[in-house]
Amino acid sequence: MNEPQRLVLASGNAGKLREFGAMLAPLGFDVVPQGALGIPDAEEPHVTFVENALAKARHASRLAGLPALADDSGICVDFLGGAPGVYSARYAQMAGLEKSDAANNAYLVSQLAGQTNRSAFYYCVLVLVRHADDPCPIIAEGRWHGEVAEQARGEGGFGYDAHFLLPSLGMTAAQLSAEEKNRISHRAQALRVLCDRLRESGGLGGGAGGVAGIHAAQPES
Ligand code: IMP
Repeated sequence: MNEPQRLVLASGNAGKLREFGAMLAPLGFDVVPQGALGIPDAEEPHVTFVENALAKARHASRLAGLPALADDSGICVDFLGGAPGVYSARYAQMAGLEKSDAANNAYLVSQLAGQTNRSAFYYCVLVLVRHADDPCPIIAEGRWHGEVAEQARGEGGFGYDAHFLLPSLGMTAAQLSAEEKNRISHRAQALRVLCDRLRESGGLGGGAGGVAGIHAAQPES
């Protein structure tokens, strides 16, 4: 039986930490949120998700001295040319409003007032570095298509979930159980790809030997 592999999770977002906690637990990782090590959030100065995710992973790995997993994610709305995108967490704040999920959602709905094209997707890039200067980070993405609902529905999830309608299910992401969201979300999709790539590349040791649990317990497809 392999020892669980220690990994720092480069996020201070409570919603993400909850979802990663549930998804990573069966995979044989001993996951420690960066906040538990006193590591502050990294700057996110870039205009692409992948650059921000790399910056976060390197920052956490450098300060923790551990392999690090980072997530950069957001909602991209077709009618808004992909906005708020990488600025999803700060969307209302950048318009001079408060920084909160409620303000972000209200502002997004106001930007789509009267629009019939409400298509959007959640996008997630995951980056895993084995050490801060890892020249071969493992990178994976996931995309989850839906629409921006005028009215909020549901109590689960976080961020934009109460306004993220899944037409094929007739529910918002906030109406899904945590298990269902963690099976089909952009984050779950990206994690499945990441696990495949990590396994192919020899695990956190990056060479011979696998990752504890990863062969036996993939996230559900
Ligand atoms: P980041 O910390 O810059 O990656 O911010 C991600 C932001 O995107 C979050 O604060 C949410 O507003 C939004 N977001 C990302 N993933 C989700 C999700 O699964 N549900 C709802 N909102 C999300």
